[in-house]
Amino acid sequence: MEPMRFLVTEVESSNRVRGVLVSGKVNRNDSVVAAPSGQQTSILSIKDYNKPDSSVEAKSKLDIELTYSVKLSPGDFITAADLRTEFADQFEAEIKWLGHNNLLPGRTYSFKAIGGNREATISRLKYRIDSKSNQQIAAKILATNDKGIVNIALTHPIIYDSTSICTPTATFTLCEKDTENTIATGTIRHGLRRASNIHWQALDVDKQSRAAIKQQSPRIIWLTGLSGSGKSTIANLIEKKLIAKGRHSYLLDGDNIRHGLNKDLGFTEADRVENIRRVAETAKLMLDAGLIVIASFISPFRAERAMARALFKEQEFIEVFIDASLKVCEQRDPKGLYKKARAGEIENFTGIDSPYEKPLRPEVLINTLELTVEQAADLIIDFADC
Ligand code: ADP
Repeated sequence: MEPMRFLVTEVESSNRVRGVLVSGKVNRNDSVVAAPSGQQTSILSIKDYNKPDSSVEAKSKLDIELTYSVKLSPGDFITAADLRTEFADQFEAEIKWLGHNNLLPGRTYSFKAIGGNREATISRLKYRIDSKSNQQIAAKILATNDKGIVNIALTHPIIYDSTSICTPTATFTLCEKDTENTIATGTIRHGLRRASNIHWQALDVDKQSRAAIKQQSPRIIWLTGLSGSGKSTIANLIEKKLIAKGRHSYLLDGDNIRHGLNKDLGFTEADRVENIRRVAETAKLMLDAGLIVIASFISPFRAERAMARALFKEQEFIEVFIDASLKVCEQRDPKGLYKKARAGEIENFTGIDSPYEKPLRPEVLINTLELTVEQAADLIIDFADC
């Protein structure tokens, strides 16, 4: 069930409005917030012209009376208090290009959404999505009927949702400015930068407000791979680069966690599972604090990586496979661990007598024989958009 989104079309007084329920259900006594002001109130009464006034479903035209007065104008929203809308002027979006001419980043188009009409530029084409294999393909243009992931910048912020939260408020069209012909349809994946902190003043302190102060989007960059594949080396450089960009980050590393929080755990299968569970929960707290978390763990089992992933929203968790063959890792052997494992001094060593399950669909794959540490770090930061 999608969250309640009510688009205000007319304001009669500061607690009586008319509008359209674009998604979810609205009930008498529901706690709600006005967007973008963020002021809280609740539903005193609902008037639907055809139905009784206790509970109303989407697509209805309604008059709503609020318990307390809030700041609302036509085009604003009243939304569920526990799942609020976002407010931003830059997004990452998936689009289907319908224009006869190719999409070229940089051109200005008309942007039309429930949250309002704006002027938009496609600031960046991130990649094309192949229609048959669904693979991400590097691209400079999109041709007719191509799908792709782009960054969009608007002239003014709009109220919106990510597509994983609510479809109607995530959907938009792009039109040519002079002809008004539709040249693309799209859905917003997530915002790239909050437009203004004003929106948050009336809100409780939460992940968004902590991240907004830091002017960043919290992320989990989860590096997985064999011992010696290059996780720590790449993780360190990612963090250096993030700090240089003024980002707030934290590197959770297999070794530092095992000396403290997880010092009671060994390397049996059960202990490895518990190790990753605690790491993932710690990363979640850090994400909630608004940080960009780099987690560098062998994390050999698919099920545990899936468990970690399940704690986060889709765009928050970026699984990066640091790929190097066992042979290469063993040749590098930066800590002499393979030598010890081969000599029987270490038991349950991943790759030797404990399995490593390669990621099937990581967000980023780093082949350390092809990319330098520098290139790997840049690629990961670029993908994570942070
Ligand atoms: P892990 O943290 O995965 O156990 P480390 O980062 O500690 O691995 O060690 C990886 C070793 O491989 C380091 O000595 C690093 O210098 C070396 N190396 C060689 N090429 C690369 C590369 N392209 N990316 C990362 N590490 C590399």
